[in-house]
Amino acid sequence: MSNHQDQWAFETQAIRTGVIRSGEREHSEAIYLTSSFTYDSAEQAQAVFAGDEEGNVYSRYTNPSVKMFEDRMAALEGGELACAASSGMAAILGMCMGLLKAGDHVICSRSVFGTTVTVFAKYLDKFGVKTTFVDFTDYQQWRDAMRPETRLLFLETPSNPLGEVVDLEIMASIAHENDALLMVDNCFCTPALQQPLKLGADIVVHSTTKFIDGQGRCMGGVAVGRKELINEMHLWQRAAGASMSPFNAWNFYKALETLNLRMEAHCRNAMALAQWLEEHPSVEKVHYSGLESHPGHSLAKRQQKAFGGVLAFEVKGGREQAWKVMDAVSFISRTANLGDTRTTITHPATTTHCRLSDEDKARAGISENLIRVAVGLENFEDLKTDLEKGLAQL
Ligand SMILES: *Cc1c(COP(=O)(O)O)cnc(C)c1O
Repeated sequence: MSNHQDQWAFETQAIRTGVIRSGEREHSEAIYLTSSFTYDSAEQAQAVFAGDEEGNVYSRYTNPSVKMFEDRMAALEGGELACAASSGMAAILGMCMGLLKAGDHVICSRSVFGTTVTVFAKYLDKFGVKTTFVDFTDYQQWRDAMRPETRLLFLETPSNPLGEVVDLEIMASIAHENDALLMVDNCFCTPALQQPLKLGADIVVHSTTKFIDGQGRCMGGVAVGRKELINEMHLWQRAAGASMSPFNAWNFYKALETLNLRMEAHCRNAMALAQWLEEHPSVEKVHYSGLESHPGHSLAKRQQKAFGGVLAFEVKGGREQAWKVMDAVSFISRTANLGDTRTTITHPATTTHCRLSDEDKARAGISENLIRVAVGLENFEDLKTDLEKGLAQL
């Protein structure tokens, strides 16, 4: 990247960084939907395969559409290099496969995406990588879990669905004092709201399926960080094949062009809804770090540009009352996905967190009266009217 591009502001980078033109003078970037690439001569093929001449070989290794997305993501997160993957989970697994070996130890927050727990507790464990799970916001637990063979600390901030936050500078110092790496799942904030690498994290991972696509269309993932770390994931991807489809990459980098505006609008709607719900007589409690009543409010205010598009609230009553609100909405989508233009509503206790034991649910604050709303870009008054249908019945 030239110095000139380094000096661009976020919005400009999101639109202008990483463009590869095909020679056809297209203005909007082309989709390079091809599995392999051709050469002028046998000699050139040999040079490209040997790495003596720059060029693409096969889209499992590299592809121009995927590269455009990777370069743009690296710029937005403030990292040297990015590696895209076929899903968020493929990015998390790929980064772990690149960095870890049997005998290594990982410390992971309990408040991470459920499948992330499965990958660490079941699959990496099977290959001799052991994981200790800790309470996300208890720094002492992270310190106490540290072992000489600890290589990686993994967390997600803010957490899903309660929006708890952890201080990334403190977490980076805990990791680095012990020669471990800090990997942060930045899915809920996106680089538009939070840039963990700038606060000391070593690697950022994303499910681009969420806010980065922003329209609920494509599955994808990406990791960003220093060259020597991300290169390890690139080598794994070349061999193991969980590469991002060029078509999906095209959707993602086009979507990055509006990421900043979309996140501003998600945050504005979420804040307005949180304030309205907090005053509602049928609502027991609202969990949104934008509210002063939230325990993470001042840290979120310092660490993030805004408070994100996801909130949770407890209705007065239990499961029956929560389901009444869920069932009464007319246009809000009953689905577990998030980061969509369309607002989605979920009952965590019986869907996203249904596999947790009652004890773990209680520990994570996943009560039967809790509802999560991933606030979309519809008109705020319409959203309020839709949620009020059920709340008015309680
Ligand atoms: C969805 C999600 C993932 C997994 O991503 P996929 O694209 O579904 O594989 C990981 N982390 C968080 C925070 C998520 O929301």
